[in-house]
Amino acid sequence: MEIKFCSLSSGSSGNCQYIETKNTRILIDGGFSGKRMEALLSSIGVCPSTLDGILVTHEHIDHVKGVGVFSRRYDLPIYANGNTWLGMERMIGKIQEKNIKVFISEEYLDIKDITVYPINIFHDALEPVGYIFFYNKIKISIITDTGWVNDNMKTKIKDSNLYLMESNHDITMLKEGSYPWPLKQRILSTKGHLSNDDAGRVLGEVISGKGEIVLLGHLSQDNNTPDLAHKTVKSLLLNQGIDTNKDITLDLTYRDKVTKVYNL
Ligand SMILES: [Zn+2]
Ligand SMILES: [Zn+2]
Repeated sequence: MEIKFCSLSSGSSGNCQYIETKNTRILIDGGFSGKRMEALLSSIGVCPSTLDGILVTHEHIDHVKGVGVFSRRYDLPIYANGNTWLGMERMIGKIQEKNIKVFISEEYLDIKDITVYPINIFHDALEPVGYIFFYNKIKISIITDTGWVNDNMKTKIKDSNLYLMESNHDITMLKEGSYPWPLKQRILSTKGHLSNDDAGRVLGEVISGKGEIVLLGHLSQDNNTPDLAHKTVKSLLLNQGIDTNKDITLDLTYRDKVTKVYNL
């Protein structure tokens, strides 16, 4: 085993991802109650007191709800950029000084044996980031909650072994659905969320079809279905000559349950 990845849950009701190397265990976001996060971790046999910290992508509640509770209960450092700290401060409660870790976006940081690159994304939060992880020769990219993927992002996430890529909505379902127009506009904007088509197009540009693992994330409950997301991305990749039945693994993440644990 080199590195393990598991999506504990992904979606607007809560986000929490898990990465483990030989010496390091990290959560990316903690958008559930402390109790729920304990249960999710316990389902993959991980005790929260063995974690080394929580990385936060942005201050929306579906990403930070349990972050403060976990930090206090298990004495965990929280990593975020300065603006995200400002945005989430009043939501997560009092954090011990030593557990407040402030990083600069687009600069590498090390957490024990894993290197982390927080990458700027486009979302209606103060300073949202995605994360790219490097460990030995393995690279993992986590990109959700972004309205678009620019060339900087494409260049930097290229050659990952595993991608968690947002595939939030089907554009037609969203447009014809029951959401109020301003909310539809927000989601469709360049500071909203990636559609299934966006995900498929971006993935088609960055992956090479050499056994990568691709997980589709942050699926909308109202404006998408798991089947539709999978089918749309699959066909867009096929247009690029990538057969998801043999060239890569294309899997889903879930709003309310963990994925399998991927070993890379
Ligand atoms: Zn979110
Ligand atoms: Zn968000």
